[in-house]
Amino acid sequence: MRNVISVEGTYLKGRYKGVMLIATAQDGNHHQYPIAWAVVDSESEESWTWFFEKLHELIPDDDELIFISNRHKGIISGVASVYKKAQYGHCLWHLGQNIKTKLKSKAGGVALFMRTTKAYTQMEFDELYDEMNNSYPSITKYLEDNIYREKWARSYFHGSRYNIMTTNGSESINAKLAQARDLPIVAMLDAIQNLTSSWFNTHRIADVASTGHLTPWAKRTVRSRFIESQKMEVFQLNTFEYHVTGVGHDAVVGLNRRTCRCRVFDIDRLPCSHTITAAGQHNMNIYELCSHYYTTNVWTLAYTETVYPVPPL
Ligand SMILES: [Zn+2]
Repeated sequence: MRNVISVEGTYLKGRYKGVMLIATAQDGNHHQYPIAWAVVDSESEESWTWFFEKLHELIPDDDELIFISNRHKGIISGVASVYKKAQYGHCLWHLGQNIKTKLKSKAGGVALFMRTTKAYTQMEFDELYDEMNNSYPSITKYLEDNIYREKWARSYFHGSRYNIMTTNGSESINAKLAQARDLPIVAMLDAIQNLTSSWFNTHRIADVASTGHLTPWAKRTVRSRFIESQKMEVFQLNTFEYHVTGVGHDAVVGLNRRTCRCRVFDIDRLPCSHTITAAGQHNMNIYELCSHYYTTNVWTLAYTETVYPVPPL
């Protein structure tokens, strides 16, 4: 699974209050994959640190590991104290909401901010940032005063966030648990376990039924890029490098180094339309260029285990 973990806290609505903490990843088919749950009294620095210490028993620290969340101080310091090698990035949806409410920014400003955050290259980012600075200077001032660029801009981020820019995954799981959150804690945890068992079984059935090398989501993505690649022209520069023109900015693809100047291939680890064009010229199988995270074999592994009910004490 791609090493991007989304973490989030949500208030419980039952008589005993408290907060549920949740960590999720995303499977190769773009579905949310719950990893860990916990119930704590409040979202303090201590409770988040405890949560990350427990998570560390399942998921070791790694240079390529990335955590994303809203900008809760407890999460940021908890990650920093337990996961020394991992990177941390902000959820862009939450940041967009902050801009909307704090700065009373119009929809156009938030939309431009979202486009800027999602830019793949620094050149593309700089152009959009200038546009934002001219049209919505309060947004750029807020960002410069409060948040490091590397934490919110994909093009400046240290590490690969793939296409995972928000914590919407853990939020959608939280939404499915809305009713369970009304229950007393033990009954709530039972309800969560039942839901998790059922999700695992549903996805296991879906991936067994799926055919082909790539997950359905990756297949659809590559197919649409393949259609775009049909409008492009390609010129060989040397054994492995190609110059691709025709749609948007020109690009240079390095098939041996798995890189394209548009950086979509580098960050998503799925070939962009330029790479698909170059691979066609090179007689190279497109599937060889896709990260193993998007293959059906790896997807199947994610749901091999069954989540059993907790036995009675
Ligand atoms: Zn490209």
